Amino acid sequence: MNVQENLQNIQLQIAQACARSSRKSEEVKMIAVTKYVGIDRMREALAAGIQHLGESKAQDAVHKWKTIGQGPIWHFIGHLQSNKVKDVVGKFNYIHSLDRPSLAKEIERRAAVQEQTVSCFVQVNVSGEETKHGLEPNETEDFITFLTDFPHIRVVGLMTMAPYVENPEETRVVFRTLKELQCRLQKKSWQHAPLQELSMGMSNDFPIAIEEGATFIRIGSALVGRDR
Ligand SMILES: *Cc1c(COP(=O)(O)O)cnc(C)c1O
Repeated sequence: MNVQENLQNIQLQIAQACARSSRKSEEVKMIAVTKYVGIDRMREALAAGIQHLGESKAQDAVHKWKTIGQGPIWHFIGHLQSNKVKDVVGKFNYIHSLDRPSLAKEIERRAAVQEQTVSCFVQVNVSGEETKHGLEPNETEDFITFLTDFPHIRVVGLMTMAPYVENPEETRVVFRTLKELQCRLQKKSWQHAPLQELSMGMSNDFPIAIEEGATFIRIGSALVGRDR
């Protein structure tokens, strides 16, 4: 396990995916998902040049945030329980898993107290798998319209997780559907929801997600490995 080597390998794959789809590498930001590893490996990733860290369990995330501090850009990518919102707001720069009104209300309440605006992704369950969180694609417009009344929430983009499949090519339709939804909703020109970002693609499928328009990819095992 060598984060530096993994990073170089992934950066090459990002460049190749960008070349295939006539995109610029700078358009794609990599989040190192460190939920499977400890502080040492996180520091190794930062030393290798990683700027974005992603965590998915509130308790671990807060402990790691307190240890490492504010330098990196922090992303909360996992399912977020309302009673954990108070721990995340004010520490994490982005929340990728906004998927229900009760969560929006709690984020709004906590963000207002701290006089912060929270950058959020609305999570969409494009594949329709029952085990996955997120709104159905056809519920997304109404949900973002509802968020108009939440002045401390800024909807920067849409997020999805593709199913894990042997052949990553099969995930393409999921990413393409999220891109189409983004394009359709951007036409609303919402003030509170510029929707310029797409958070999609993980270790198994990120080259395809990039070809289909990802601006944030979330890479765990292929970058930092797994110790837990
Ligand atoms: C764990 C996780 C990832 C990273 O998974 P890998 O397959 O190890 O790259 C990305 N996004 C979310 C939401 C996750 O929970």
